[in-house]
Amino acid sequence: MKEYKKLQQLLLSIDGQSYSSYKRIKGFYQFPDYILAIDHVQVDPYAPPSKMRILIQRETVDIPKEYINQKNKRIAVSDFLTRNFYKQSQKFNHSVKGTGTSGLIMIDHCGQEMLERTAVLIKDNQIEVRFEVGLPAAGRRILGKAANRIFQDILPEIIKQALFYRHLNQTALQTQIDLILDQKYLREELPKQNLVAFIANGSILPRESGISDEPLIGAKPFQSPANLEIEFHLPSGKTVTGMGIKKGITLLVGGGFHGKSTVLQALERGVYNHIPNDGREFVLTVSDAVKIRAEDGRSIQKVDISPFINHLPGNKVTKQFSTMNASGSTSQAANVVEALEARASLLLIDEYTSAMNFMIRDRRMQQLIVKEKEPITPFVDRVQSLYKDLGVSTILIIGGSGDYFEVADRVIMMDEYLPKDVTAKAKNIAAADSYNREDSVEPFEILSRRVPLSSSFPLSGKEDRLRAKGKLHLLYGWETIDLSGLEQLVDDSQTNALAVMLAYFKNHFLNDHSSLSEAIEQLYQHIENFGLDAVSPYTGHPGNLALPRKQEFYAMLNRYRGLKIK
Ligand code: ADP
Ligand code: MG
Repeated sequence: MKEYKKLQQLLLSIDGQSYSSYKRIKGFYQFPDYILAIDHVQVDPYAPPSKMRILIQRETVDIPKEYINQKNKRIAVSDFLTRNFYKQSQKFNHSVKGTGTSGLIMIDHCGQEMLERTAVLIKDNQIEVRFEVGLPAAGRRILGKAANRIFQDILPEIIKQALFYRHLNQTALQTQIDLILDQKYLREELPKQNLVAFIANGSILPRESGISDEPLIGAKPFQSPANLEIEFHLPSGKTVTGMGIKKGITLLVGGGFHGKSTVLQALERGVYNHIPNDGREFVLTVSDAVKIRAEDGRSIQKVDISPFINHLPGNKVTKQFSTMNASGSTSQAANVVEALEARASLLLIDEYTSAMNFMIRDRRMQQLIVKEKEPITPFVDRVQSLYKDLGVSTILIIGGSGDYFEVADRVIMMDEYLPKDVTAKAKNIAAADSYNREDSVEPFEILSRRVPLSSSFPLSGKEDRLRAKGKLHLLYGWETIDLSGLEQLVDDSQTNALAVMLAYFKNHFLNDHSSLSEAIEQLYQHIENFGLDAVSPYTGHPGNLALPRKQEFYAMLNRYRGLKIK
């Protein structure tokens, strides 16, 4: 450990030298309030910025102990501090100029969700902040004085404003902590109340635009139909009232543009806790809910899709179905079966992103094409047994077929963005005509056990053979894993984490014996016990990881074209 004045001397002494002299500043420096760790120094001003950490005692920043004495509180506080550090560092991003990334101070960027991240790690007595600094240069010459300004003036100011309790918006911090505790409580309350989802009255569901996840200004607030209303008394002392969606089969119907997809998307995202003023703070679904869609072209490795697709032409077996290029219906069938393997208790389906031949087949078509000649058992004939046999609920949008009236437990119509309970009417319509579907279907079978093989990952060597490319792609050597079908993957940092976690997973939990779910359980248990940091390849880095759900990890692995199943 060196004294901070040493850093000053060093920076001034290398001023004007070639960029590579910066590597001499690597190390730990004791500043008056904290330790600065310069862990990795970039090789030139165009390379990714240098990786650093601040280690600061909790007493120094004076964040109350009772704010960090539980995991969820720590997630809220860490989220709050990360956003604050980001905001403060933005103020200085043009104050040091130079080549490439010169003068940039970067920390992970948070979206509308509060996620478990590695950017600000809160331990019992210490807070650790991971960030990057673009060490300044003119051309390839070191700007030592400018660098010195960053470490002696700018960073200390950012740290003070971003982390010290006396400089924080204390009310906002308290609000955020209360909110996450309320959200956790309410989400855990759902199954006890026989519910799979809840949308509070007054929620703002639509988003500003396709590229902005912020609330749409001037949107019509959500209001539950009276008979579906339910009230929760929250730990904060607040009461929320809104629409409870019960277990079973729920149909969302209504004319085009009346807000059906907007409701479903809010439910997809309801597996996450949103920040104050998002509009979806109390739009909560059970945490294992999975969006199911068609995904033509994806690969499938030995998935039992026989509940939906059987006796394909040419007697192709579907108990262990594999393809490198799935059709709409086979991909959607695999997505359902894999979601069950990932322990989803709620499926969310929008007809707009579904394969119609997977979703419905009406009675007339049933008469024309005899069952023996039709490989597909449509979802409408399976959705009840999914619930009865496996306890898995479904919420789905169907605007174009009344066949689901018979199987639905309730039907909610969206009318000018407001839900109406039309269950009785839909059931009457279904009962009135003598329109009987043929629906002889066997119970949903218990799923086969899939064992992933370690030979799936033949490349040897460095961990960074696995890396994220944006939110929707993960690279393994030359292979790209396409994640664009994962609508519940919400943050680039989750994809960064998927890459790091997959590297750890293949090295530690793939043993040619454990099933996919056993191995993934072990990985998540390890992270639960030791934190997301425990799977990072370098101490304290990367600082831009956010924990994805188990369901997204499964989905990522299932889309890897090199995956081999025993
Ligand atoms: P549907 O799926 O029924 O066709 P969408 O959910 O796609 O309808 O919504 C249609 C449009 O209405 C979208 O542009 C959406 O942003 C907007 N919208 C949805 N809900 C609301 C609301 N509560 N207030 C205002 N606009 C809304
Ligand atoms: Mg729609």
